[in-house]
Amino acid sequence: MATKLNAVDVLIVGLGWTGGIIAKELASTKLKIVALERGGPRDTNPDFIDPQIHDELRYAARHDLMQNVRRETITFRNSESQTALPMRQLGSFLPGQGVGGAGVHWNGVTWRWLEWDHQARTRTVDKYGEKIVPSDMHLQDWPITYDDLEPYYDKFEKTCGTSGKAGNINGRKIDGGNIFEGARKDEYPNPPMIAAQSMVMFEKAARNLGYHPFPNPSSNASRDYVNPDGVAFGQCHYCGFCERFGCEANAKASPHFTVIPLAVKNPNFELRTNSIVLKVNLDSTRKKAVSVTYLDARGREFEQPADLIILSAYALGNVSLLLQSGIGVPYDPATGKGVVGRNYAYQCGGGATAFFDKNTILNRFMGAGALGTCMDDFNGDNYDFVKAGYIGGGGISCSNSGARPIQSHPTPRGTPRWGSEWKRAVVDNYDHAASVGNQGAVMAYRQNYLSLDPTYTDVFGRPLMRMTFNFQDNEIKQMNAQADICVTLAKEMGATKIDRNVPPVPYSIVPYQSTHNTGGAVFGADPSTSVLNKYLQVWDVPNVFVTGACVFPQNAGKNPTGPVGALAYWAVDAIKNQYLKNPGPLVSS
Ligand SMILES: Cc1cc2nc3c(=O)[nH]c(=O)nc-3n(C[C@H](O)[C@H](O)[C@H](O)COP(=O)(O)OP(=O)(O)OC[C@H]3O[C@@H](n4cnc5c(N)ncnc54)[C@H](O)[C@@H]3O)c2cc1C
Ligand code: SF4
Repeated sequence: MATKLNAVDVLIVGLGWTGGIIAKELASTKLKIVALERGGPRDTNPDFIDPQIHDELRYAARHDLMQNVRRETITFRNSESQTALPMRQLGSFLPGQGVGGAGVHWNGVTWRWLEWDHQARTRTVDKYGEKIVPSDMHLQDWPITYDDLEPYYDKFEKTCGTSGKAGNINGRKIDGGNIFEGARKDEYPNPPMIAAQSMVMFEKAARNLGYHPFPNPSSNASRDYVNPDGVAFGQCHYCGFCERFGCEANAKASPHFTVIPLAVKNPNFELRTNSIVLKVNLDSTRKKAVSVTYLDARGREFEQPADLIILSAYALGNVSLLLQSGIGVPYDPATGKGVVGRNYAYQCGGGATAFFDKNTILNRFMGAGALGTCMDDFNGDNYDFVKAGYIGGGGISCSNSGARPIQSHPTPRGTPRWGSEWKRAVVDNYDHAASVGNQGAVMAYRQNYLSLDPTYTDVFGRPLMRMTFNFQDNEIKQMNAQADICVTLAKEMGATKIDRNVPPVPYSIVPYQSTHNTGGAVFGADPSTSVLNKYLQVWDVPNVFVTGACVFPQNAGKNPTGPVGALAYWAVDAIKNQYLKNPGPLVSS
């Protein structure tokens, strides 16, 4: 039996980037706010100090900062003809757990998505006609444009101290930046990071081939920085223990030392850690949320009433909570009706591993999560969809994120996997290999979706969420074409041996690919194809808002957190300036 607590004004579920931004922005009001985070508290000191944070076994191999799949997981299948089975070990993606969420152990690549990504359907159909869109593809526009979001992208970049070079300020194209990006009002807050040797070689090769390379926008600070909230960042020292680790220098932007402490210092804000939300409770009309049910670290059950509820529990966690709580109509692929779980998408990878002669020394061990050089010549609609035979390309980049001893020792394909020959190949290649990679868009399809599993439950007795997902022909063509381009670039860089890589097809949940799960609770202008209106407010239950990458109608050829953070600022602006003044639907359905 749950203990019923005193009501609060706002309740936030999950305290990563998006929950942290909402908490910080709302905490300056006089509202009583509670945030419930399923993981524990964390701070740079003592949790991420050097040398213990450079424990590759603990953090990278054993996923210390990530979701505990013994308590909650998903089931997975490639298609409806299969029976889904539980994911019992983390693999293809690594959701975060604990204060700061995955924002603690991310890489920090901080994009603005291309203008095309915000208006994918309209721009595609205007240019190529309806027929180019496959009949099973749910290609949808965002309900807002790049220009609507521009000030919020800017705000998130300044919060994060993003290092980069603009390629388009107020429509003026700037060589050396990304000339394909939408118009920005301002430069990045910090200059680009220092390029690694492989990046210099990639840039030269890309230019030789007529492409337009530029430095990755990186939230690994290229210099000491104080953000507009007064939060100080250290300079990145290229330690190479970035992705999957906390940063000992507070150089990698993370909510745990930026937005969250600013929320916590307000007396009207309360953070409850080790508190897992099981469901959102609705009133008898099913149009209003009244409370959430959660368990604390001791397994005690509480009901926390609140006037306004924000789901910020990562893309997958949010969709799971909507389904568990009966908010919105679950998607049914047979009828095409329903919206919750619809448009689940993912990311394509692959590319080329380039091996060089022994005189090409790359210092791979010095790196940072977001250190890389990229090109968007085959991303968004910067190429011809008809000639290519697919929609939605990808960014191609050469990154140097570090080369740690356990998991980073590239050897050419065909090398034995163990023994003296393998050891010799590791030594021979360790500092003479580079990766040229594709980060490809994945479109949404009728047959890829999230739902509740009919068989398996989590440790709390709730049905697991079931993922039905496979790469479709469009994405298979794209990842193969992009891998060929990566091979050409690697050749131009002077590689003596090149391995061409494409992700496993059918999609496999086992090898790590990317934690860029998108869709399932998308925003849109039409309630029959979206769960949320343009302010991330649930159409059916207006006192619930949902943040995170679940809102994207399809994925882009870029990492998601730039628009995820920008949209959190966009939504909280609407909550503060519209919803709180007049609670109710902000858009009529
Ligand atoms: C290894 C890795 C590298 C990445 N690199 C990049 C990158 O370079 N660039 C980029 O753009 N993106 C990157 N990402 C993705 C990025 O981390 C996410 O987009 C971002 O963190 C999402 O923010 P969020 O607030 O939606 O969710 P999260 O940061 O995941 O926060 C959600 C929080 O909710 C909590 N929670 C979940 N369920 C519940 C519940 N039921 N009750 C209470 N609390 C709950 C979780 O514990 C978590 O703390 C990376 C991710 C990973 C894992
Ligand atoms: S590479 Fe830079 S940003 Fe990343 S953990 Fe090391 S010091 Fe921090």
